[in-house]
Amino acid sequence: MQLLDGKAISAQIKSEIKIEVENWISAGGKKPHLAAILVGEDGASETYVASKIRSCEEIGFTSTLLRFGPETTEAELLEAVESLNKNSDVDGFIVQLPLPKHISENTIMEAVDSSKDVDGFHPINVGRMCKGLPAYISATPFGILEMLIRAGIETSGKHCVVIGRSQIVGLPMSILMQRNEYPGNCTVTITHSKTKNLKEICQTADILIVALGRPEFVTADYIKDGAVVIDVGITRVKDASKKSGFAIKGDVNFADVAPKSSFITPVPGGVGLMTICGLLTNTLKAARKEIYK
Ligand code: NAP
Repeated sequence: MQLLDGKAISAQIKSEIKIEVENWISAGGKKPHLAAILVGEDGASETYVASKIRSCEEIGFTSTLLRFGPETTEAELLEAVESLNKNSDVDGFIVQLPLPKHISENTIMEAVDSSKDVDGFHPINVGRMCKGLPAYISATPFGILEMLIRAGIETSGKHCVVIGRSQIVGLPMSILMQRNEYPGNCTVTITHSKTKNLKEICQTADILIVALGRPEFVTADYIKDGAVVIDVGITRVKDASKKSGFAIKGDVNFADVAPKSSFITPVPGGVGLMTICGLLTNTLKAARKEIYK
């Protein structure tokens, strides 16, 4: 079993981006600028945004955090989005999800200018990705592809099973793994809560990508010998022994599954750290106008 170490791979990618930023600026380019909108007081969202802002500082981006209270209306948020769309100093921005229930996430996502949509959630970017056109690929799938590339994992002709069909992970992942390039060319099965015989399907997976949000759901009996196991899950579980009062759990029971796998991602220290790299890469592409001229 080999560990797909998100900490080491993401540190490597960040140092590469930092060098690219330096080169870009010394060639006369503008310092890339990522803005983030945070609505409400969700603890996990606070942590994710803080980590994104910290990463921007590490690699030489400008970052801006715009905070809005939990009572913010959809109209007010749309105004903030429009203002970032028009702000020529901001290359890309994200609206941290989840949003409070009274705000439609789809309405907000669609209001983001697709050329600044560095989360890759806008229908134009999703559609371009499906067609194989240059697009901002959403950050978590991007991070997973990068892990496969850097570990040199063969994907062509493999059976890839994806658990979960969410807009931000499962669905784009299934599309990316079947495209006619590396990493890709898999035969993909996408599964969800209505799938019958999930365990039997997973047992046929050469590559299993797990994103359902149920801690330690996947156990060794789901796994074919030598499978590549990518655990996307991040759930906070109460744990009195931790200073924070909670532990982070993945969707895979690591201790049980690791001995059967060829490669496996840990949680924490796996896909989560790679996600930020996707966002930073997209922001650099936005600053260099690589996708939209
Ligand atoms: P989501 O939107 O809640 O989607 C969960 C998916 O799992 C749905 O498609 C659901 O099926 C399916 N599902 C639920 N229970 C199932 C079951 N028993 N059997 C088979 N499928 C089942 O979740 P998400 O946003 O994709 O997130 C999934 C997990 O990844 C969460 O733990 C989240 O925190 C984590 N995450 C991590 C990162 C990262 O950076 N590492 C990024 C995003 C998300 P239906 O469609 O039928 O409901």
